[in-house]
Amino acid sequence: MRFTVWRHALASFSLLLSANVHAAPVTPEVELWRLDCGEIQMKDASPLSDTGSYAGKSRRLSNGCYLIRHGKELLLWDSGLPATLRGAPIDAKPISPTLAVDLPTQLARIGIRPDDIGRLAISHYHFDHVGQAATFAKATLLIGAKDWAALHSGTIPFADPSLLAPWFTGGGKVDLIEGDRDVFGDGSVVILATPGHTPGESSLLVRLPHTGAVILTGDVVHLEAQWALSAVPTWNTERADSLASMNRLQNLSRNVGATIIVQHDPADIGKLARFPKASR
Ligand SMILES: [Zn+2]
Repeated sequence: MRFTVWRHALASFSLLLSANVHAAPVTPEVELWRLDCGEIQMKDASPLSDTGSYAGKSRRLSNGCYLIRHGKELLLWDSGLPATLRGAPIDAKPISPTLAVDLPTQLARIGIRPDDIGRLAISHYHFDHVGQAATFAKATLLIGAKDWAALHSGTIPFADPSLLAPWFTGGGKVDLIEGDRDVFGDGSVVILATPGHTPGESSLLVRLPHTGAVILTGDVVHLEAQWALSAVPTWNTERADSLASMNRLQNLSRNVGATIIVQHDPADIGKLARFPKASR
């Protein structure tokens, strides 16, 4: 009798072991490309700080978009400046944006067509992050629920709902993000709630198999120097949330050992592989 019990226990144990082995998650290949989504010359960079950190200074901002491949699925993070700005001259306006090359041209270099992209996730609704969104009209749009609500509530500075027409009026599939979202359910690509710049602003944590964790900051800050300055831009929608989101990303990057990529800081471009190479 006792032997039978032990035999059953051993059988169950070995079943458990084999089940665990077979149930081990298959980690899909994850890779990340940094795409050029334009540049923005700020003749007057003072709006980057509501305490005067940039008074009388100018700054040149980069503008990154990021393609993530998770197994066979493709997610585009932000869609950059509108293609109509291609070749626009940098002029004397306080904010002067320009685009050298559009997204379809870059994606073609790595054999990807716009319709191959299943998800377009945007950090927030500003025109420099959704400019080429309509190129990916077949993708599901992932956007912060509070940003989506704000777009429907009236005129917003730096936002043009027509850039999101396929979803705003065209019936395209919209996936509203509330809080954080583990996009593929395995922790490799996680949208982080980091409000303050806009009500539904998000950042993106990507865990790469060799490079390690990377955080794409959206516009939680525009320049690396803003972390130490606690520089909250004058155009942010909520000051306290802005500081809390900066704090969240700094602590998270420290705790998980993540590389922070400030999407508008030219100094951070070199932290990732140079396109058309991918970071893996
Ligand atoms: Zn921006």
